[in-house]
Amino acid sequence: MSSRIQTLPQQLACQIAAGEVIERPASVVKELLENSLDAGASRIQVDIEAAGTRLIRVRDNGAGIHADDLALALAPHSTSKLRAVADLAAIRSLGFRGEALASIAACARLRLISGQSGVRACEISAEPGAVLPAPAPAAHPAGTTIEVRDLFFNVPARRKFLRAEQTEFLHILELIKAFSLARSDLGLKLSHNGRTVFSISAGADLLERVATVFGRGFAARACRVDVADRGLQLSGIAGQPATARSQADRQYLFLNGRLIRDRRLNHALRLAYSEDLGAGRHAPLLLYLTMDAGDFDVNVHPTKHEVRFRAARDVHDFLYSALRQALADAVPAEQPDAAA
Ligand code: ADP
Ligand code: MG
Repeated sequence: MSSRIQTLPQQLACQIAAGEVIERPASVVKELLENSLDAGASRIQVDIEAAGTRLIRVRDNGAGIHADDLALALAPHSTSKLRAVADLAAIRSLGFRGEALASIAACARLRLISGQSGVRACEISAEPGAVLPAPAPAAHPAGTTIEVRDLFFNVPARRKFLRAEQTEFLHILELIKAFSLARSDLGLKLSHNGRTVFSISAGADLLERVATVFGRGFAARACRVDVADRGLQLSGIAGQPATARSQADRQYLFLNGRLIRDRRLNHALRLAYSEDLGAGRHAPLLLYLTMDAGDFDVNVHPTKHEVRFRAARDVHDFLYSALRQALADAVPAEQPDAAA
């Protein structure tokens, strides 16, 4: 191998970058849903075929993309959500890296159709490594549809690591369930091979969402959480110790609308239950943590599941005591005023 240095061709650089975010079909769905939410969509339809390996189509009624920007949307480091380094200090959108569509387009066939209200919609189709054609007029209501076909057809190394179709499907279903809890005004549908497998209507309130994801009986026995202290706010629903499970798969923690995983915060959650629950038992949780966007950094990892807090200790302690308080007060979630 030659010891001289060369800059990688853009296509290859994109594929390498894609490796960090696009691990499996569910990663594509996550990125597309984040974009739809950032575009203010209130209705999102997700259609997949062969667990997303053959087709992932996400259709939303969001703000749409300007026809002149369609090609740019697929270019690396291209975003409408970040302008200057100062913006990085307080990210309010789910996306900001301008990498997702470029990454997806590097390892699948992508078709983007989008229109803004009152403007003729346009579409563009991208093939990895090929020159982008000019956008063409298309029939589409205000909003965006993105079709991703044949994921990893040109990345054998990744294709090899895909699991059985049922496993990949379950990853997508879990993700859709989590997104259905992210906002209380979002209608979200998933169909697999032409069959609707999950549906929540835009009008569904929190308890209906909880019932759909956690099961009917759960909400009646769970407690309401609603605590605020010094700029931190925690709301949602916490399962009673009696409803604990051996798996932590029904624990959702949203930070300003973003589903996060944080070891330290998980510790606070465990600690709050430690007197009532043995090791390896996990109470179902749906928690919405809210704080100033400037008090944490999401620019830690490409998948944006991890965040870094300015005052991690305070957040940990707040979460712990808020949850302790909620469990001690134990207000059942299904109270007459809970529907408000
Ligand atoms: P990011 O979300 O980090 O900005 P993406 O590659 O995911 O980067 O998307 C690039 C740009 O394309 C976004 O900044 C946004 O302007 C536009 N875009 C992508 N998906 C949608 C959508 N569903 N609705 C409206 N605009 C979109
Ligand atoms: Mg994005």
